[in-house]
Amino acid sequence: MSHFANKLSASVYVAGHRGLVGSAIVRLLTQRGYNSIIMKSSGELDLRRGPEVDDFFRKQRPEYVFLAAGRVGGIYANSSYPAQFIYDNLMIQSNVIDAAFRHRVKKLLFLGSSCIYPRCAPQPIREEYLLTGALEPTNEPYAVAKIAGIKMCQAYNQQYGADFISVMPTNLYGPEDNFNPETSHVLPALIRKFHEARERGGDSVTVWGTGQPRREFLHVDDLADACLFLMRNYSGDSPVNAGAGEDLPISELAGMIREVVGYRGEIRYDHSKPDGAPRKLLDVSRLRNMGWQPKISLEEGLKSTYQWYLRSTGQGAGTRL
Ligand code: GDP
Repeated sequence: MSHFANKLSASVYVAGHRGLVGSAIVRLLTQRGYNSIIMKSSGELDLRRGPEVDDFFRKQRPEYVFLAAGRVGGIYANSSYPAQFIYDNLMIQSNVIDAAFRHRVKKLLFLGSSCIYPRCAPQPIREEYLLTGALEPTNEPYAVAKIAGIKMCQAYNQQYGADFISVMPTNLYGPEDNFNPETSHVLPALIRKFHEARERGGDSVTVWGTGQPRREFLHVDDLADACLFLMRNYSGDSPVNAGAGEDLPISELAGMIREVVGYRGEIRYDHSKPDGAPRKLLDVSRLRNMGWQPKISLEEGLKSTYQWYLRSTGQGAGTRL
């Protein structure tokens, strides 16, 4: 066990604390009693600017870093803003990783994504399939940036003896997710679509693509738990997959969300929208063998996320649940 586990006063910087992952890590650290959490909004500190990042590390001297900052988005956002996805992520992670080394951070955890793996990787996807084939084109710039982040962590470990680790989460969801229909991922997009259709009495909801691609979903509170677990218990060059261990077709996800929202209308499929990767189920045996597993079922997670969505849009606890 590392010093991180025994010292609640350790100074911990959570980069990206307003995002889905960063906010979940902050919630969990606070709940566990960590009392020296450093947070900076992107307005206060633009992580794309190297000298500012360096200055911040020199002054704050964090001992541990969770690198959850970055530009993220769903299939539409990734294909519409490829330059921003590659530039912002490369700059943010390069600046933070290098500053963490130069200012002697004890340990850093870098958040990647399951889209770093080849589009046609055998399923479930094992960590060693990284860089064995071509990527999914709809999010290649994002994936290339994330792969560079993993390689940077490995390179700093090898050359400088740093303790920088990487975790590759599957598709995540939960509180503080982005529910914007154009830039969000499928799960929050569908919660919003079904909710709004129910509210206006619409007779159908349109789901993008064929409904056949399969995706795996992990509640972000489970991911935060995995991140703290790895910060305590794992050091090494290989990225570690974090997932739920099972996936389902988008059509089935849509059916579950329809139930949770209590919508009675029809589901239609818009075949003019891209499907993206056919499947990306992570092999999570490595993390499981270390002794970690998720606790929140998809059904439970969908219900609580729908409640969170209702509260965040000022619609109270909802009438049906
Ligand atoms: P991906 O996992 O990187 O492909 O990202 P997404 O979460 O954006 O999309 C997952 C799958 O859900 C793709 O096949 C999308 O076409 C499909 N999908 C269906 N309806 C929607 C929607 O309303 N929004 C999004 N983002 N995806 C949708």
